[in-house]
Amino acid sequence: MSASEPIGHSQCTLAWSPWGDRFGYEIKVQTSKAIASLGGGQWSVVSGPAGVDKNMAIVGVLALQGSFNEHIAALRRLGVKGVEVRKPEQLQNVTSLIIPGGESTTMAKLAEYHNLFPALREFVKMGKPVWGTCAGLIFLANKATGQKTGGQELIGGLDCTVNRNFFGSQIQSFEAELSVPELASTEGGPETFRGVFIRAPAILEVGSEVQVLADYPVPSYKALGSSSEDQEENVGEEKKVIVAVRQGKILATAFHPELTADTRWHTYFLKMANDVGEEASTSLVPVLNLSSNQQTPNELPIFQ
Ligand code: GLN
Repeated sequence: MSASEPIGHSQCTLAWSPWGDRFGYEIKVQTSKAIASLGGGQWSVVSGPAGVDKNMAIVGVLALQGSFNEHIAALRRLGVKGVEVRKPEQLQNVTSLIIPGGESTTMAKLAEYHNLFPALREFVKMGKPVWGTCAGLIFLANKATGQKTGGQELIGGLDCTVNRNFFGSQIQSFEAELSVPELASTEGGPETFRGVFIRAPAILEVGSEVQVLADYPVPSYKALGSSSEDQEENVGEEKKVIVAVRQGKILATAFHPELTADTRWHTYFLKMANDVGEEASTSLVPVLNLSSNQQTPNELPIFQ
């Protein structure tokens, strides 16, 4: 990595744009004009050094089960430190939270065991930024269907109905190019995002406050959740189910951005978090040292 101009601080938060100049895309430079280039892409300072030492915005990742390491690695690729959260009191030390994918029933049992639900609900109620991916989306939904007998506890806060395992069992997991106009308009890059759906849920209904960020076409009888007679009648017809939403400071995706090399959902969330942070603080916690002239290696496999 060679800096195009000298950077006077060793503590800056950077974002990596794999498209770099090719798509004329650059994550917004907020507090410094320092830009360094690497390969075909580009590092941009998204949050400068001001306020790094005090009132830092720290991203928590619920680390009970599931893909929390992958989220932490994705944050690290952006130069941001993710902190594992396993206990209620640890939520007091973070300003935003990612709830990873995994298995929501198991995660709910572990959250109950650690008495995390009251603190998690309080966190959401306070309007702190929270992003749920896959099982994390189920956790955040006000209503979930397709749950195991006896149901499972949810955090709630996201005004939607989510259907667990909507696309089928584990072997029906799939990848799909999703149209993501809102993401592309704020984060740049292509108009599509490669969604990795692993025994994924889908959102069937949303309230008026919820902004739909991505949907996915399915046969109409599936979207309607209707009977086998309807299935015969509606063969060939398509409807859409919702797979990414935002409601205020809650972000939810039915798929797994942390398993791809495309970090735009992470930067989108970090900006949401930083917007809130700016009221109390001005920056995210950096883990990259600009003077090292090295990109932090990816410790975990990701889809390219
Ligand atoms: N099917 C899982 C559940 O219901 C979610 C899968 C995932 O997070 N990839 O919890």
